[in-house]
Amino acid sequence: MARAFAQLGNPSSVHSCGRAARRIVEDARRRVAALVAVSPDSVVFTSGGTEANNLALCGAGRRRILASAIEHPSVLDAAAEVETIPVHDSGQVDLDALQAILGDGRDAIVSVMLANNETGVIQPVSRAAELAHQVGALFHCDCVQGVGRVPLDFAGLRADLLTLSAHKMGGPTGVGALIVAEDVALSPAIRGGGQERGRRSGTENLPGIAGFAAAAEAAATTLETVENLAALRDRMESEVLQRISGARVVGANVPRLANTSCIALPGVAAETQVMAMDLAGFAVSAGAACSSGKVRASHVLQAMGLQDDIAGCAIRISLGAGNDASEIERFVVAYSDFAARTGVSAA
Ligand code: PLP
Repeated sequence: MARAFAQLGNPSSVHSCGRAARRIVEDARRRVAALVAVSPDSVVFTSGGTEANNLALCGAGRRRILASAIEHPSVLDAAAEVETIPVHDSGQVDLDALQAILGDGRDAIVSVMLANNETGVIQPVSRAAELAHQVGALFHCDCVQGVGRVPLDFAGLRADLLTLSAHKMGGPTGVGALIVAEDVALSPAIRGGGQERGRRSGTENLPGIAGFAAAAEAAATTLETVENLAALRDRMESEVLQRISGARVVGANVPRLANTSCIALPGVAAETQVMAMDLAGFAVSAGAACSSGKVRASHVLQAMGLQDDIAGCAIRISLGAGNDASEIERFVVAYSDFAARTGVSAA
């Protein structure tokens, strides 16, 4: 990124500075493409996952947009009308419902995420893609949360469109990509100078794209640390459940991302929990925080059939490769002390 910051020139300029900037972009494109085993031509750099999701769903030219009820708002709100596919209590998309709603899919695009950002629950995306393709629908997968955290056979998945975001894999914020299969014609949402082969105009974010490529390369190797994270996560959850009798782990019975834990303390607003943990030195998130910082009951947990005393009272704890057992222990103590103060504890 530092080299890219220092590089004068617009990647579209033909002089030598421009050509050097272009080399940074095209080198990054190859490295991002390698992460998901696609050809570099399929990579369209965007300002992040939100833009990539909007571009996929609005640019694919299908009249109907079908999305699982637990998708990120950048999918669910991408168009005025998005048909939602229900999920099971487990947090996984209901494939029978998908099939029933799809009908003749020739005018449809289906969007199911690789893993949910609030619960970490991994979705049956290959099967969902197969159902979509069987009836002629396109398939889009928001892979923002899963890449580098679960092994995935992208070639086997055969997604027509796939979303990535750099900051969820350790890269900078404000950059991402939409991967577009060769045979999908995409209408641009941002028109102008024709960059990204006409699919996304605007002078490229050179340092962001360079950082994205470095993060993508690193993400390809992080799968090895996933088992350690899962062990830490499991230990944290079992200690929390032991110490706080009312606590509940959401999505515990299905495959989940190793780094994500969604814990509810029924009756204690998520916002209160987040503030208390922040004061104790832990950066955790409420299920769904909008940009104003206000916390609403999570649409993901509501879609899983959980009532507001849980859907509005759950926090998301994300672990990273830098966390260790002593931090987990300190978190468990701080969280159970807090729960005791609110009167939830008693274990
Ligand atoms: N999709 C999912 C599953 C996410 O978790 C997020 C961000 O949290 C996004 C999309 C949006 O990505 P970005 O923040 O790069 O716009």
